[in-house]
Amino acid sequence: PLVEAMEIEERPSITFKDVGGLEEQIREIYEVVGLPLIKPQLFDEIGVEPPKGVLLYGPPGTGKTLVARALAGEVKATFIRVVASQFVNKFIGEGARIVREVFRLAKEKKPSIIFIDEIDAIGSRRVDMGTSGDREVQRTMLQLLAEMDGFDPLEGVKVVAATNRIDLLDPALLRPGRFDRIIEIPLPDKKGRLEILKIHTRNMKLKDVDLEEIASMTEGFSGAELKAVATEAGFFAIRDGKNYVSQEHFIKAVDKVRNRMEKRKQIFG
Ligand code: ATP
Repeated sequence: PLVEAMEIEERPSITFKDVGGLEEQIREIYEVVGLPLIKPQLFDEIGVEPPKGVLLYGPPGTGKTLVARALAGEVKATFIRVVASQFVNKFIGEGARIVREVFRLAKEKKPSIIFIDEIDAIGSRRVDMGTSGDREVQRTMLQLLAEMDGFDPLEGVKVVAATNRIDLLDPALLRPGRFDRIIEIPLPDKKGRLEILKIHTRNMKLKDVDLEEIASMTEGFSGAELKAVATEAGFFAIRDGKNYVSQEHFIKAVDKVRNRMEKRKQIFG
């Protein structure tokens, strides 16, 4: 199960060019996570301690995983991804062992970035420790804290965690020396949406397509939803028997993705 529990990419091929919008967030994560990995002496000399971990928070599909992977690509680091909710529903009883193994591997393959998705699954504040399941989750979280406290901020390992529910997190996670930098990854504004649409249509054959107009029409869409718009537009073109994608295909695709978003909202609130 250990191999299944993590995804390892030696040196992701994507970089910041593959991320639309989020300029400020990219600058910050590069400074506090990227630079210490490639130029630790800079921090040593000046005598500042960079954070060991940062927390990314924001709505689903806004690019939290993407930013972390792109950072690993930029600084040529190993990217190790674990999904914390799987400790609770898939690798029950193995959480602490997996956490230990992830850090061991990260040190072996440094420089590395450990990405912990859905950290709220193990890092939520809880009122009582009623069931053995709760205690197991607690053990996983304590192991994570022990690992974070146990390494040096300049030894080539950084931890990036992500959540949609920062309000649920245990403040113990956010203490100095742990996830002491918090970066919000919001929904994209119009400029961001345009950049994201450009990225996801890079390899598409477009004819008379005005992506600015599509960016204006898609307020409230996440990056993942904009990617879906590009894909759906391609499907409409194929259904239409065309070998290029037109504005009309994009407009239909926006409608389709918007309907899907509304249905989801009705179901999940
Ligand atoms: P979740 O909270 O659901 O895990 P996330 O914030 O980690 O979501 P990603 O998994 O990074 O979101 O995004 C899903 C996909 O959507 C990405 O692989 C990418 O193709 C696209 N995407 C999301 N945001 C952006 C962006 N800012 N620029 C370009 N593509 C994006």
